[in-house]
Amino acid sequence: METPDTTTALGALVSEQGYRMTTPRRHVLDVLPASGAPLSVADIHERIRSRIRSRRVSLASVYRTVNLLLRLGVVRATDAVGGPQRFEIGGPFGGHHHHLICQQCGRIEDLDGCPLGDAAWQAMNRRVRRTRKFRVVDHDLRLLGACHECTKGRRARTTRR
Ligand SMILES: [Zn+2]
Ligand SMILES: [Zn+2]
Repeated sequence: METPDTTTALGALVSEQGYRMTTPRRHVLDVLPASGAPLSVADIHERIRSRIRSRRVSLASVYRTVNLLLRLGVVRATDAVGGPQRFEIGGPFGGHHHHLICQQCGRIEDLDGCPLGDAAWQAMNRRVRRTRKFRVVDHDLRLLGACHECTKGRRARTTRR
């Protein structure tokens, strides 16, 4: 979904706000856009070790880096159902998307695009504005359920419609 250009642009966003592009910052910005799912600090650390093969970045420095990027608005925290907080690219580079959240194991995945199509979104906007005098500018939608891993074991017991 994202390209290395995203990492470059994110780096520029950090520099513009007066922060140097240190190794941990660069690695976190390498790992996050490519993930396809929000990641916990431990996930980010693990990916830096396994994908970038860098052992110079400690868990504590990933934690500090994520907190800095949160303050700068480059990263945002996503909703979670239990489990650790998870983070993804935020601001202009985050892109409009939603999350599939497993209520059993807490796994979160990105759902590309928006299940609320343009027509439905505009119709709802018009209706809310007319009936409630409320101007809607954005929405947040979580899709809750059970992931593939958690469903596999119980399929035998579940009746499908
Ligand atoms: Zn699950
Ligand atoms: Zn949407």
